[in-house]
Amino acid sequence: MSTSTDQMVMELKKTNTDMANNALSSKQFEQPTELSHLISALQTTLDLNKLLIIFDTALSKKIGQSGFIFENNELNTTLQHGLTAHHKCEYHLTIESSFLGKLTFMRRKRFTEEELQLIEHLLAALLYPLKNALLYLQALRSSYTDPLTGALNRSTLDSVFQKEVSLTHRHHSNLSLFILDVDFFKVINDTYGHAAGDMALKSITHCIQETVRESDHVFRIGGEEFAVLLNSTDSVGAERLAERLRKAAQALPIKHAGHEFNLTVSIGIAQYSEGDTLDNLMEKADKALYQAKNTGRNKTVCA
Ligand code: GH3
Ligand code: MG
Ligand code: MG
Repeated sequence: MSTSTDQMVMELKKTNTDMANNALSSKQFEQPTELSHLISALQTTLDLNKLLIIFDTALSKKIGQSGFIFENNELNTTLQHGLTAHHKCEYHLTIESSFLGKLTFMRRKRFTEEELQLIEHLLAALLYPLKNALLYLQALRSSYTDPLTGALNRSTLDSVFQKEVSLTHRHHSNLSLFILDVDFFKVINDTYGHAAGDMALKSITHCIQETVRESDHVFRIGGEEFAVLLNSTDSVGAERLAERLRKAAQALPIKHAGHEFNLTVSIGIAQYSEGDTLDNLMEKADKALYQAKNTGRNKTVCA
């Protein structure tokens, strides 16, 4: 291992046996109960954020780091806790050839060689609980997202709608919903193939997510149909956003297997009125969408 530098990167790859031996034989622990307390504490949660904070808290008692960043690009997850600082030590955590993520600790003072060894020993105890927390996160996500596009799924719409309605009432604000349907999508499948159609659905989802605010919710509610729930937005704001999205979709190049093509979308918008159920609101947006389809497509219509 190299000595402490401003930024260092280390691989921590352990098999199950290595992990147990290493963790338990650490000479850094004058009180072995500290390590067993940490191991027990790490077994108490499957929540990724809580797990990392438990680890960080135990470690900070030993080395006083200011904070950490955990990144797993495959799961599109970044968690940061505490303060960023100039000196960093970065671990690429791998277990039985599966990559768990990159964990970086930060501190204003350089990490000493001894401290780095201690971190490594402690990290060995984190690997399996971390693997379980990541599996749990994946399972949780797959219960509320659509596997093809990563958008929220239809069954999640009901609960998110209820939550947004109560927030809307509490803040005396507005709530709008629009339904977006890709025009002549069947033709895209027939012309370029089903895989190209799938690619178009992924691209359009990304385009919607990039166009709306982070606090808005994007759902795939049918084959080539999406619903977007916009909080603190009235129908005028929703229409403005929908128009921006319609234009962005039209300009979006879809690339698949050497082909490049474009698509258009039609959008029906409805603003929530007190007492509306999700079904009411969807019906209003659907009627507006139907009108957009029947009057030429590549249009937004407000109910
Ligand atoms: P319109 O402009 O009236 O909406 O016409 P459309 O062709 O988009 O609508 P239609 O309902 O006739 O066809 C939708 C097509 O979407 C038919 C179906 O095979 C396709 N589809 C549904 N789900 C998927 C999917 O997950 N992947 C792909 N590639 N195609 C899908
Ligand atoms: Mg369609
Ligand atoms: Mg449709």
